[in-house]
Amino acid sequence: MTQEHTHKTGFETRAIHAGYEPDEMTGAVIPPIYATSTYKQDGVGGLRGGYEYSRSANPTRTALEGVLAAVEMGERGLAFASGLAAEDTLVRALTRPGDHAVIPDDAYGGTFRLFDKVEKVWGLDHSPAAISDVDAVRAAIQPGRTKLVWVETPTNPMLNVGDIEALAAVAHDAGALLVVDNTFASPYLQQPLTLGADVVVHSTTKYVGGHSDVVGGALVVRDHELADALAFHQNAMGAVAGPFDCFLTHRGLKTLGVRMDRHCDNAEKVVEFLGSHAAVTEVIYPGLESHPGHAVAARQMKRFGGMVSFRVKGGVEQALRVCESAQVFTLGESLGGVESLIEHPGRMTHASVAGTDLEVPADLVRLSVGIETAEDLLADLDRALGAS
Ligand code: PLP
Repeated sequence: MTQEHTHKTGFETRAIHAGYEPDEMTGAVIPPIYATSTYKQDGVGGLRGGYEYSRSANPTRTALEGVLAAVEMGERGLAFASGLAAEDTLVRALTRPGDHAVIPDDAYGGTFRLFDKVEKVWGLDHSPAAISDVDAVRAAIQPGRTKLVWVETPTNPMLNVGDIEALAAVAHDAGALLVVDNTFASPYLQQPLTLGADVVVHSTTKYVGGHSDVVGGALVVRDHELADALAFHQNAMGAVAGPFDCFLTHRGLKTLGVRMDRHCDNAEKVVEFLGSHAAVTEVIYPGLESHPGHAVAARQMKRFGGMVSFRVKGGVEQALRVCESAQVFTLGESLGGVESLIEHPGRMTHASVAGTDLEVPADLVRLSVGIETAEDLLADLDRALGAS
């Protein structure tokens, strides 16, 4: 499908067909894994299809990059070795020492660490702001210096919601770009480029890959010049996704729509169950009408996702006990795979923000609700919450 045609088709059609035409020679319906570092040239500089060296381009990666662009309604997708590799490439392509970025005050711990321990040393300053508060983001912008406004929505693990359209206007007024980390929502539930964002970031390790079998990252943009700048840095910095990883990620992406619907169905049941459980003091889920970001989430997301956080009556000890007692929910970091995961953000994914303004509550438990049989998930949580 051409890009023009692709963007007119439905999400699942794009996820399955965009970016790749069956192989001309064999008719292979699925992009082969091109395990090659280099390509024979037909005379010096006579490249076949533009392929020269696999850091610069590889056909398995090209196919994935095409479908990533299509599912985010972007112009160009770029695949990286991890989400953080994508983030670092983006930051160093679009900022210079002396510049400034606004980041979420409850950013994913690894993103905060990247800004605080790596980009800061390089000379990029940052200010954390509550992305659910447009005025707070506006106030954190340093006119002339702020080049990036970085948003996660929903955030990890507090599930705060940022209004992408409003934040894009604020960033653009200040001459900055709006970057949206769309990992938690996935492109099935939310397409930030259609709401005014300039760059979408993904940890494709999560819902896009969807099977907890690959680490990867992606950037998607709609502007040609921006695409060229990022593609230049992708090659110049070299943190590309390898062909095996691209194959796995691409395979996962084909079923994103059906997986996400089941993640959402199960998450809604889990939220209802936890909401009436005596050991739970608070359930955090953007789908709840009581969630402060519910109206914005309802406007910009198709459904509310598979991530659920909750706080328990018994404090940190009970939170740890719940995490360690669950059996169907596997105790582990990461999220977005078909299997349900449970974790204690304070000691696990967000340990890197302990002692900072971004510290998360100690009685918080985070669930990545998978696509197993819902009744088994509820019974498992009931057992774990009752464990002593
Ligand atoms: N962004 C979010 C929201 C994440 O949850 C993660 C990882 O957990 C990342 C970025 C980083 O991605 P990766 O672990 O693939 O480097």
